[in-house]
Amino acid sequence: MDKIVSLAKRRGFVFQSSEIYGGLNGCWDYGPLGVELLNNVKQAWWRTMTLRDDIEGLDASILMHPRVWEASGHVANFTDPMVDCKSCKARYRVDVLMEELSVKKKKDVLRGLFPQEFAGQLQDEKVLEEFTQRISTDETIAQVIQTLVPCPNCGNKATFTEARQFNLMFKTFVGPVEDTNSVVYLRPETAQGIFVNFLNVLNASRQRPPFGIAQIGKAFRNEINTKNFLFRTREFEQMEMQYFVKPGDEDTWFEYWREARMKWFLDLGMKPEKLRWHKHEKLAHYAKAAFDIEFEFPFGWGEVEGIHSRTDFDLSRHEEYSGKSMKYFDDQTKEKYTPCVIETSIGASRSFMAFLTAAFDEEMAATGEGGEEMRTVLRFHPKLAPMKGAILPLVNREGMDEQARVIARDLQKYFRVFYDDSGAIGRRYRRQDEIGTPYCFTVDSQTLLDQTVTVRDRDSMRQERIAADQIKSYLFDRVAG
Ligand code: ATP
Repeated sequence: MDKIVSLAKRRGFVFQSSEIYGGLNGCWDYGPLGVELLNNVKQAWWRTMTLRDDIEGLDASILMHPRVWEASGHVANFTDPMVDCKSCKARYRVDVLMEELSVKKKKDVLRGLFPQEFAGQLQDEKVLEEFTQRISTDETIAQVIQTLVPCPNCGNKATFTEARQFNLMFKTFVGPVEDTNSVVYLRPETAQGIFVNFLNVLNASRQRPPFGIAQIGKAFRNEINTKNFLFRTREFEQMEMQYFVKPGDEDTWFEYWREARMKWFLDLGMKPEKLRWHKHEKLAHYAKAAFDIEFEFPFGWGEVEGIHSRTDFDLSRHEEYSGKSMKYFDDQTKEKYTPCVIETSIGASRSFMAFLTAAFDEEMAATGEGGEEMRTVLRFHPKLAPMKGAILPLVNREGMDEQARVIARDLQKYFRVFYDDSGAIGRRYRRQDEIGTPYCFTVDSQTLLDQTVTVRDRDSMRQERIAADQIKSYLFDRVAG
């Protein structure tokens, strides 16, 4: 993880927010290559979701009417349990304190809280997995803290307050007066912008269920614990799609979207063994089924996307709170119903981190001088790679640099490509490997004779010659779409 974070900073993928002031916890800035990678992740998602007949796009505002968050349940329920140390006033999230326990203590907690389920022998791995899931959902567990965990800050025992619920929504005010009537929230998810626009999109697009609405946008959560780089941040981007179906059809569409979403990751080069399904056993009262796609990060498995069957809860709640009918009238069958929703919800920034982590590799590779050295390479799928190609004159003489510049300028009408003429060619290849550029095109003395260039493949490091005027189609075949 440290290697990835340091590479991300050194090569301009991700910087700490407001770094010169010491940073702001849970916020990150995307540098020149990071913004390209992030855009490519979003583009890949947007194209997969919207280049079809049955999904429309949307870009709703971040600030919404405060009643939206009452209807959605976020005002009442979007909370994490917290405790304060009465002695030193430090504040902790309950589940984070619990994570600090030894495996043996975690076992005791599981046995204490769920005596029947965890009566027998427990493998350590199973303990850790179960524990992580249970602590975020079980409320009585906060009591266990008093007896098991001393305050990590002052070391005192039994000084924690009762657990209190802390709402994760950021609040601000509209207009000049900062009172309770002017409170609005920075949206903690993009989905509600989709639900409240259900009728607008339906009428404007003349879609009929089954159809979906897709949106990419910023979301904000005042997370108490923001560790693990981009995994859990306070400001992040989501890519959400809500698919509206006739009640009764939701199970079929749920399976459809589960398969489609897993395929998206695999098509972008993720290895199957790095992904797995996590089925939610404990469901929200309105939910019919929920699965997460988890990725194996360097710190362990973590959710990157949730696929949820949400019944007609969302539209019904907005109907109740707004007083506007959210029903669909099918003029062919003369039926009127509130559609059920299948949601696919993925973090753009969290999946950025998954793709970056999955791409990172180090291997011993031959140097030009007959030796070997460590090569760092980001093996991005060409569609995601920030730079699609590098154009390199072998030397800055004999017109090679001029020819290379002409090629680069022509390609830059279509792709992000990088022109680099400084340093030994082997070094320049390594620099491109490190940022994940899939193809390097080198202009050498033969180019001047027959207008061919070498293409060096990042992963295999093999080289072949192609005609210079074929580079564009070579790249289009590999990175477009
Ligand atoms: P977690 O339990 O990991 O906080 P969640 O279950 O609250 O996630 P959802 O509300 O289902 O997450 O959000 C959908 C997706 O949004 C997640 O799969 C994740 O990719 C992304 N996401 C959620 N919270 C954050 C965050 N704080 N930072 C970055 N991405 C996030």
